[in-house]
Amino acid sequence: MKDIFENEKEYFLQTYKRTPINISYGKGVYLFTEDGKKYLDFFSGLAVNALGYGNEKVIHAIENQIKKYIHLSNYYVSTPQVELAKKLVQYSGLAKVFFTNSGTEAAEASLKLIRKICGPGKKIITFSNAFHGRTYGSLSLGGKEKYKNYFSPLLENIIQLEFNNVDQLEELIDSNIAAVYLEFIQGEGGVRGVSEDFVMKLKSKKKEFDFIIVADEVQTGIGRTGQPFAYNCFNIEPDLVIVAKAIGGGLPLGALITNEKYSTVFDFGDHGSTFGGNPVACAAGLVVIEEIFENGLLEQVARLGKYFMDQLKIIWESNPEKVVDIRGIGFMIGVEMKYPCSHIIEEFRKKEILVNCTSEKVIRILPPLISTKDEIDHFLTIFRSILN
Ligand code: PLP
Repeated sequence: MKDIFENEKEYFLQTYKRTPINISYGKGVYLFTEDGKKYLDFFSGLAVNALGYGNEKVIHAIENQIKKYIHLSNYYVSTPQVELAKKLVQYSGLAKVFFTNSGTEAAEASLKLIRKICGPGKKIITFSNAFHGRTYGSLSLGGKEKYKNYFSPLLENIIQLEFNNVDQLEELIDSNIAAVYLEFIQGEGGVRGVSEDFVMKLKSKKKEFDFIIVADEVQTGIGRTGQPFAYNCFNIEPDLVIVAKAIGGGLPLGALITNEKYSTVFDFGDHGSTFGGNPVACAAGLVVIEEIFENGLLEQVARLGKYFMDQLKIIWESNPEKVVDIRGIGFMIGVEMKYPCSHIIEEFRKKEILVNCTSEKVIRILPPLISTKDEIDHFLTIFRSILN
């Protein structure tokens, strides 16, 4: 009989390189495999599982909602949707929400909004190594050629500038710019944060030309940086924010959040989604938001994230020939190595820790937000032993 990996090869389009472990279940920050191994998961389902696995409150909220109704359609309002929208508005400081099922759909919604208000002629600025999703609009915004190969023609009127290049902002932003898309910390791009100077220049240019700033908070959003959103670390107010990943408690959910000014651009029928804002996903998301913002998780991430970074910097100091840089904020951390890091990821896996390699040389560490100092210390001990 074929095993699960052979069946995967037989029945799936081969778009994903799967990690060769067969997971049975998760509990807390750990994943348990069919062959009895226990992995510390510092990948969190790619930044989705903020509360780890098997959180009782999430399970209870899901069970509770499923018994009432699983789906209604957006012809009706639902309590979990409305409650979650209220919280997203409260913690973002923005005005209104449109729910989607994913990050890429939130990006598409934002693109349609921008097109409706600015028309087809104006240009959109994005940055090198940016990642905003895989559907045609969001793919057009992306800055990694390897994702765009084979798929042109993409959307027109998108200009790609160098990330953190202040001079280019000065030179190329004028009255012909409709919007600027920015990840305040690029995830796929190698966990690279935007510089203060860059944000200052963006702010001053916005004052002059009043373009729309879109913060892509799909990976950074909802507490991962120890702030509600990554833009909160940079003293700037975006006009539009897109979120997804963690906000559904593990169920598919995304959102476009707009400020007051852009909250009336869409009229009835301008945009829609059958599943967007699924009530069960919203009920789960509500628990995530409450845990992060109202039960002290945000402060814990800020405090332990700093500890984690400080410890990694000490490791860097004693391994300058192997480690090139330590970057990130809160529980979004990148360790750039001198060489491609896939074999280090493999070594971590042998020691029953799951992390990911991005941009070839960057170990991307995305612990569940519930991770404790002991778990971080365990990671650090293993990292030291791998480097040695
Ligand atoms: N934007 C960012 C910053 C992301 O990291 C991702 C996914 O990794 C997306 C957008 C796309 O989100 P999704 O995969 O939910 O479509």
